[in-house]
Amino acid sequence: MTGLPRLKDSYDFVILGGGHAGLQAAVKAALLRRTAAVIDRGPKYSRSYYAPKMANIPGFPEGISGHELLDRQLAAARGLGDWIDLFSPGVALGAERADDGFRASFDWLRQRLVARGRALVLALGVVDRIPEVGGKIDPIFPWANQAIVDFCILCDGHDLAGRSVGVIGHDAFAARTVLDVLAFAPSSVELLTHGRPLLDGADETERGQLAGELAQRRVPIVPAEIVGFDEIREHRFGVRFADGSHRSYDRGFSALGWYERHAAVPRSLGAAFDADGYVLTDDDSRVLSAGDGRPIPGLYCAGDLAHGWNQIPEAWAAAERAVIHAWADFL
Ligand SMILES: Cc1cc2nc3c(=O)[nH]c(=O)nc-3n(C[C@H](O)[C@H](O)[C@H](O)COP(=O)(O)OP(=O)(O)OC[C@H]3O[C@@H](n4cnc5c(N)ncnc54)[C@H](O)[C@@H]3O)c2cc1C
Repeated sequence: MTGLPRLKDSYDFVILGGGHAGLQAAVKAALLRRTAAVIDRGPKYSRSYYAPKMANIPGFPEGISGHELLDRQLAAARGLGDWIDLFSPGVALGAERADDGFRASFDWLRQRLVARGRALVLALGVVDRIPEVGGKIDPIFPWANQAIVDFCILCDGHDLAGRSVGVIGHDAFAARTVLDVLAFAPSSVELLTHGRPLLDGADETERGQLAGELAQRRVPIVPAEIVGFDEIREHRFGVRFADGSHRSYDRGFSALGWYERHAAVPRSLGAAFDADGYVLTDDDSRVLSAGDGRPIPGLYCAGDLAHGWNQIPEAWAAAERAVIHAWADFL
């Protein structure tokens, strides 16, 4: 891939999102000698961009940052530039079915373009909600970048053993996260509700059950509003509260759920969603229809948008299954 790509009349695959899932789909398509257009906002919008050290990536026993892993995947895609056109930074706006597949509209270099593909792979990921302090989300970034504050229990739970942990959150998701953290044997866990009502939004049954479990496990609830963080030089998660108090933890954990689920495009194409808001797919990563529950022909979804596994090896596998299925089935 040298210079700027030129939009072809049509592609075998149009891939919305060029994070771990989207890039893997593109590489697999190219290796199967099929063309792919990837529309991506840019690596810094990938969830893993702020993951300083990932321990479950095969081939990297010392760990690798999300940033570096994305760079490597991008390099692989660029090396297959005869087959892959990468429109980045490009913003996918919508997609619709057409006689010969799908049409996806996107903005790229101040132009509004339409990419046509016989198969459409949705790989837009999801976006974490970041704690707001004083109306801003950036106060926590330095702690997150140094892995003092984590966001993903599946990714970093193993690092919490024997450590004191302050979990930020207030709803059922946060309460479940606290219980998950406890499974990794930390020295202590506290729930920092940041001025919000505990178990806000939970229904009666869930509220009773989670409140009971938190009480049984003797999880302290710290209700005061957070006004700032400190102790980064000591590599600790220090938290300052509006009532003037201060608490200090080995690790912080943000358990606020998702800010953006990227549901608009799959919904407009008739996708079904599970109870947690993930796009429903079958074993071949085919998107299931909200109407009849059957696969929507030619429409695939991979990565964090598709299910709750939220792990890169899983995103890669789902992307490969999507492309191999389309290749074997109708391409
Ligand atoms: C702090 C943290 C640590 C993590 N650690 C690990 C770990 O150790 N191991 C692990 O396996 N996983 C880890 N994860 C999870 C991992 O990051 C995700 O599972 C993975 O990024 C999912 O890949 P994806 O391609 O579905 O989504 P992403 O990688 O998030 O990519 C989505 C892409 O879609 C693009 N996009 C979004 N909207 C648009 C649009 N409208 N138009 C065009 N492009 C768009 C974005 O630019 C982005 O590049 C971690 C996540 C976080 C937040």
